Amino acid sequence: MFDLVCIGCGATYPSDAVMYTCSRCGHLLEVRYDLANINITRKDWLSKPISVWRYRELLPVSGSPVTLHEGGTPLYHLQRIGEELGVKELYAKHEGMNPTGSFKDRGMTVGVSMAMQLGMSSVACASTGNTSASLSAYGAKAGIPVVVLLPSGKVALGKVAQALMHGARVISIRGNFDRALEMVRDLCEKKGIYLLNSVNPYRLEGQKTIGFETIDQLNGEVPDRMVLPVGNAGNISAVYKGLLELQELGFVDRIPMMTGIQADGSQPVVKAIKGDLPEVVPDLNPETIATAIRIGAPVNAEKVLKAIRMSKGTADSVTDEEILAMQRDLAQKEGIGVEPASAASVAGVKKLIESGEIDRNERIVCVVTGHLLKDPETVIKQCAPPIECDATLESLLAALHL
Ligand SMILES: *Cc1c(COP(=O)(O)O)cnc(C)c1O
Ligand SMILES: [Zn+2]
Repeated sequence: MFDLVCIGCGATYPSDAVMYTCSRCGHLLEVRYDLANINITRKDWLSKPISVWRYRELLPVSGSPVTLHEGGTPLYHLQRIGEELGVKELYAKHEGMNPTGSFKDRGMTVGVSMAMQLGMSSVACASTGNTSASLSAYGAKAGIPVVVLLPSGKVALGKVAQALMHGARVISIRGNFDRALEMVRDLCEKKGIYLLNSVNPYRLEGQKTIGFETIDQLNGEVPDRMVLPVGNAGNISAVYKGLLELQELGFVDRIPMMTGIQADGSQPVVKAIKGDLPEVVPDLNPETIATAIRIGAPVNAEKVLKAIRMSKGTADSVTDEEILAMQRDLAQKEGIGVEPASAASVAGVKKLIESGEIDRNERIVCVVTGHLLKDPETVIKQCAPPIECDATLESLLAALHL
C-alpha cells in the first residue's frame, strides 16, 4: 500500500519498518503511496464527516485507529482583521479546536495508531508542550505508557497540566528543547520505545489533513497562500506533502505558496530562506515568548526548505510584541482564542501585507495552531486584572463608571 522513502537518497523501506531516518544516508523518511492505484474521488470524501479519518485512503493505518475525534476544525473568515489589512479573503483554520487543543492531535491519532499496528508497547517524545499533551492523551486512549521530556521552566502551564493529568511520565530536562529531542532519540533507540516527534513520518501523515480540510471547506478552491508558524517545521512540510498528493490525484491544479513564520529570536528557517542558504544553520540560543516555536534546530529543515522553495512561498519573522498584539486582535476582533505561537502566522501576514510582499487580492489561509487556554500565564500578564468591588450595586456602578 505504501513505502517509506528516504528524501535524501531515495532508498525505500517496507511499511512495517520501525525507523525514522535512512540507515544508508541518515536523511528523513517520508510515506509514499501508489497514488495511481488509489481509487478515490472527492465526492467519496465529501460524503463522510469532516475529520482526519475522512482521508484514510491517504493515511498509512490499516486497522481501526486510536481516535479522539480529531480534525474537522473550523475555518473562520477573519472579517475585521481582513478589512483593516485590506484583504477580502483572509481565513484562520483554528487547530486549537482539536481534542487536546492543538494540531498535534492530527499527528498523534495516526502516530499512535501506527505504534499499535507496529506492535510497539510504549511511546515517547520531547516537547515544547503540545506534543506531550497530545501524546499523553492518545497514549491513555491506547492504554500504553507514555514518557515525555520537557525543557525545564519553558513549557506553558496548560500543556504540563494536560501531560500530568493524562498520566504520562513527565521528565523535566535542565536544557532546551533541542537537547531534550537528542536525549529522547537516544532513549527510544536504546530502549525500543516508539518515538513520536515530527521525525516520525507517520505523524506528519495525520497533520497533512489540515490542507485537505481547508480545500474541502473552501468548496474545492485552492488558497493562493497558506501561512503557518514554524518550529520543527513538521507541520508546514506535512501540509505541503499532502497538497502535492492532491495535485497528483488531480483534485487540485496548483499548490498554495507555503509561507512559514518564525519569531525574531528563533528564526533559523527564515535566515536560510532569506539568505538563499542550501541548509538551515541551527540557532543555539532560540528565545521567544511563543514557546511552541522556541526551536533552534528544526528537525524537518530539509523538508521545509523544499516546501517553501518549490511552492514559491516565503518565510519571515515577527517580534514577540507583534505576536502578542495579534493574539489580542484575534481574541478581541474575531472572538478567536489562540496561544502566542499561533498568532505568529496572522502577525506574519500583517507584516508581509504592510511591506507589500503579499498581494491584498490573495486568498490567504493562516493556520492558528493552538488554543488560548494552553498558556494562561502569558495572557494574564498582558491583561489588566479584574476590577474588584464591594458586593453592592452602588460600587458595581462606580467600578463600571456608569
Ligand atoms: C508544535 C507547534 C507549532 C510548531 O509546529 P512545527 O511542526 O514544529 O513547525 C506551532 N504552534 C503550536 C501551537 C504548536 O503546538
Ligand atoms: Zn537515504
